[in-house]
Amino acid sequence: YAIWIGDEESGQVVVVLYDLALIRAAEQMQLDFVGNVSHELKTPITSIAGFAETLLSGAKNDPQSLDKFLQIILQESNRLNDLVTDTISVARFANPHPIHPQKIQVNSEIGRVLTMLRPRIIERDLSVQIKGDTDTTFVFDPAEFDDIIKNLLTNAVIYNHHGGEIRVEYGLSDKNFRLVVADTGIGIPEDDQQRVFERFYRVDKMRSRRNGGTGLGLSIVQAIVQRAGGEIILHSQVAVGTTFTVTLPRKPAKEIANNQTTADT
Ligand code: ADP
Repeated sequence: YAIWIGDEESGQVVVVLYDLALIRAAEQMQLDFVGNVSHELKTPITSIAGFAETLLSGAKNDPQSLDKFLQIILQESNRLNDLVTDTISVARFANPHPIHPQKIQVNSEIGRVLTMLRPRIIERDLSVQIKGDTDTTFVFDPAEFDDIIKNLLTNAVIYNHHGGEIRVEYGLSDKNFRLVVADTGIGIPEDDQQRVFERFYRVDKMRSRRNGGTGLGLSIVQAIVQRAGGEIILHSQVAVGTTFTVTLPRKPAKEIANNQTTADT
């Protein structure tokens, strides 16, 4: 689609070219996203309102129902919180946004996320093995680094079998930082392996929901990795396990210095 703007006097012509198909596709993606988010938000909201009403119309007088329904209300509120947090992360990628690279102590970042996941790790009797030089540092935006580790590790926990294993491996090469998160869980069928990076795509919706999944985690990880010029590779076999390998380029020292100046100002 082209617009011609002519100027008879000067004889000059300005041509503005639009790729309407691209613009329409982007608009449609936005509409789909808003539709999906609204749909996902509705479920916990309906549930919170429903249980609150039931309590008010008498169930609060029964201590057992009171306790059970309040638990559900709390659980659904947490789910709303997760959905909103993930939606904000996704929205960040819709616009160019500033990143603030800093030196990250990789081992302590992994430790921090594992501490957060500890109750679920214990509940599922999982063993976690971490391989990597504890002194390793890597320059990256800390919030984005946290998003990568948190989402991959959370999945390794919630899609694992009881008594399963998780292996986290990290290290630096000349040009890259590499992170491997492997589990001995339920695995991902071959047909779904490409699709799990799509927003809201879930192999088993019920299992994801039950464990507080939003269906946005891997799309967030992929967006961060791609923007950083890295890659994420998935190997998985049903009933055997899943391995995600993330490779992120190390920035030359000069670029880091520039970025940090930007971040500080
Ligand atoms: P969710 O919040 O549902 O976990 P993600 O975007 O993180 O959303 O993952 C999308 C889907 O990919 C999950 O619902 C699950 O079906 C599948 N998946 C992701 N990680 C794993 C894993 N480690 N093992 C098995 N399935 C996984």
